[in-house]
Amino acid sequence: MSSSEWEAVIGLEVHAHLKTRTKMFCRCELEYGAAENTRTCPVCLAHPGALPVPNGKAIEHTLKLGLALGCEISKHAIFARKNYFYPDLPKGYQISQYEAPLCGKGALQIPGGPRIGITRAHLEEDAAKTVHAGGATGRSVGADYSLVDFNRGGTPLLEIVSEPDLRSADDADRYLRLLRQTIVELGIGDAEMEKGTLRADVNVSVRKQGEEGFRPRWELKNMNSFTYIRRGIEAAVREQVAAYERGETLEQSTYDYDPDTNRLAVHRSKEEADDYRYFPEPDLVPVDPPRELLDSIELPELPAERIARLAEHTDLDAAWELVFSGNDWKAQALAEHGVEWKAAAAIAMNRGDFRPENAAALAEIVRANVTREALDDAFAAAASGSIDSATYLAQTAVSDESELEPVIDAILAANPGQVETYRGGKEGVLGFFVGAVMRETQGKADPKVVNRLLLEKLRG
Ligand SMILES: [Zn+2]
Repeated sequence: MSSSEWEAVIGLEVHAHLKTRTKMFCRCELEYGAAENTRTCPVCLAHPGALPVPNGKAIEHTLKLGLALGCEISKHAIFARKNYFYPDLPKGYQISQYEAPLCGKGALQIPGGPRIGITRAHLEEDAAKTVHAGGATGRSVGADYSLVDFNRGGTPLLEIVSEPDLRSADDADRYLRLLRQTIVELGIGDAEMEKGTLRADVNVSVRKQGEEGFRPRWELKNMNSFTYIRRGIEAAVREQVAAYERGETLEQSTYDYDPDTNRLAVHRSKEEADDYRYFPEPDLVPVDPPRELLDSIELPELPAERIARLAEHTDLDAAWELVFSGNDWKAQALAEHGVEWKAAAAIAMNRGDFRPENAAALAEIVRANVTREALDDAFAAAASGSIDSATYLAQTAVSDESELEPVIDAILAANPGQVETYRGGKEGVLGFFVGAVMRETQGKADPKVVNRLLLEKLRG
């Protein structure tokens, strides 16, 4: 049997912190990096009798993403208690959404790739942060003691669950990057993996090509690096295929990816969803998003749409790169002013910054085919202020023969001896004349044109 008979089946549960001033159910202000346990109150510390009040901005942000992903928006979303015991959860339950999430089925089309179904996007609160110290630092097992920072507890958290529509680590990577870019551009979250404001649980199983249904999946929990997610998926696929090919059967379980060994280690066996004993949160009324609120949400052109549109002019990889680097508007602006698309894309990726109001002047300079150095100068000028293309082009008179000819004539007239030497057969003297012309024009002449004109006159 060969491993090419197998295909991966991957689904992602992405968690993104929402950008709000205060927490999900209390008025504690959110501040990344604030001193430990200084952003707490009776609500997020679960003091008896404290009641939650939902954050309207978080609901609006969730709806915004739901609309961007074409999700069915609930008319009657219900908060639910997800019960479990852990030191990072003082209430003994997390307020989440279970049977009736704010956003139901939708999809994210990967440009040049598959359309990934969205199962749901729901709103919940994040748990507090535990810090394991001493012993095997960073791991709960083997630590000497653990500390809890409740600042993070109660942060609005958006969970976006995909269908198991992803078929490779590459697809998963592109889906996640696209989703992240969408969250950032909608202005609803920072989605920075290194800060923990974007995390993902990854579900991976494999099956034979053409096989119906799914085999037991492995869940990789709390992944917070694009690289590790990719490697974790690859490791899971590798290990599952090897196990099946040895004739083993596999169970649904939870794994941690160990970047040091590039292998998976059993985390704990997966609880059944029933273990959480979900029930509707009695302290909160259902959320009925008003029509006016939904109508008032305006979506910008989304990254997936922009990539697809740019890919009609330039190649797909360049389109992805332009959008993800935030440089697509530069290529667009230059192209709108007559620069050929491929050149516009290359310039947008490789040149320094410039301001939108300078695009027309820059496009004119690009179209004039000035030297590389002159172009660099022009872009530097456009980044630091305004730029006047007429003056700029006048200063960088490069390949204009009518400007170069008088200079060359003057130099030839001033050096009759060297002209005789050249005509006598010592063609190396050409370099002397080229150098003289470049000095005279302060390096702005196009050497190719200078060479050609010199040869014409010396031979003529
Ligand atoms: Zn609080």
